[in-house]
Amino acid sequence: MAATAHKGVSVEEPSTELLESYARLLDLVRTGEADTRPALSHRTGLGRTAITQRTTTLLDAGLLEEGELNPSTGGRQARTLRFRKDAGRILTAELGATGFIAGVTDLTGTVLTMRHCDCDIALGPEPVLSEVESTLDDLLAEVGATPADVWGVGLGLPGPVEFATARPSEPPIMPGWNNYPVRDRLSARYNTPVWVDNEVNLLCLGELRTPGLAKGDLLYIKIGTGIGAGISNAGRLHRGAQGCAGDIGHAAVSDDSTVVCRCGKTGCLEAVAGGAALARDGEELARSGRSPALAAALAEKGTITGADVTAAARAGDHHSVQLLVEAGRRIGAMLATMVNFYNPSIILLGGKVSGAGDLFLATIRETIYRRSLPLSTRELRIERARLGEEGGLVGAAYMVLDELFSVRHFGQWLPAGSPTGMPHMHTANGHG
Ligand SMILES: [Zn+2]
Repeated sequence: MAATAHKGVSVEEPSTELLESYARLLDLVRTGEADTRPALSHRTGLGRTAITQRTTTLLDAGLLEEGELNPSTGGRQARTLRFRKDAGRILTAELGATGFIAGVTDLTGTVLTMRHCDCDIALGPEPVLSEVESTLDDLLAEVGATPADVWGVGLGLPGPVEFATARPSEPPIMPGWNNYPVRDRLSARYNTPVWVDNEVNLLCLGELRTPGLAKGDLLYIKIGTGIGAGISNAGRLHRGAQGCAGDIGHAAVSDDSTVVCRCGKTGCLEAVAGGAALARDGEELARSGRSPALAAALAEKGTITGADVTAAARAGDHHSVQLLVEAGRRIGAMLATMVNFYNPSIILLGGKVSGAGDLFLATIRETIYRRSLPLSTRELRIERARLGEEGGLVGAAYMVLDELFSVRHFGQWLPAGSPTGMPHMHTANGHG
């Protein structure tokens, strides 16, 4: 669109159009949609000379490599091109309320190794991030890599994050984290760019980038200790003006002022239907003796968790089934409102409580269909999320990859062949 040239830009700097072209060619090879020069030409409409020049640049930068001759094409055989997914590593971590998962991925978001650690997010950013860093150091060594191989760091936090600054924004369950400079700390430590987002957004992104799913308007609902939603608009994350779009767990759904949420307000959805709510109500059933199954669990362990309630429900405990059905109805009612408002093509349910069993899912589904407009549910799919506990790490890796290969950042590191050693890339304006 912008026809005027930037006078301050040196002649060597590739134009936005050229960068877009590089990114598009790489993307086609990365995703396996085209793996020869003729196929790239066919997909992009670029002529043979342009394709040859541009793939040569990408080969020289170490982003592509030549493969074997492609035997399937008729006529003159074309040599295949491969994306060098092992040219670098991405460090990833998904932090939850009571623990985190850390992992190392390649440049296609494939998790090479991962580890779960117990860690209370409420301890504050210094001790928690120290623990995350030492775990990432271990994992990096485990895959035989060094900090010089790290192309970027992606982190998911269990609260709202202002995406541009990578700072937590008044997160309800993370005392001490408000406005903490997460990026400054990690980018200084690893000497590489860092991006941070809400963990539910990353779970949503991980599913979006996994082949085989419709790329359209999607809602990802995480039902764990708390409840949150990730929103995709035509395959792109919708983060909202302040980065807290989809924070449905703290929407008021009950007038019962005795139910106090961990955010301090009353009547929040997650305070009546999340995993912590199941645990609280389950413990009451156990203590009163109304549920013998939960009473037995309480006697054995001294406490009741959401997982105990779902296990008791699966084993046929009537009271636990009732708790899950009630939670499913509450969540379904909220989702029906979202369906009417947003008209998604697919809703994915993730998080530990979503794995509670078919009855829970069926209750949510039934409530959504009953309370939504018929037109909005005619083609609606409601399914379990497909990625397991690695989902947040896959999403974190793709957050980093999307940014690195974006037009805004790609040109900054393309001449060097790697973003390693460019910790302040995200703060540059693209011409500095
Ligand atoms: Zn709340």
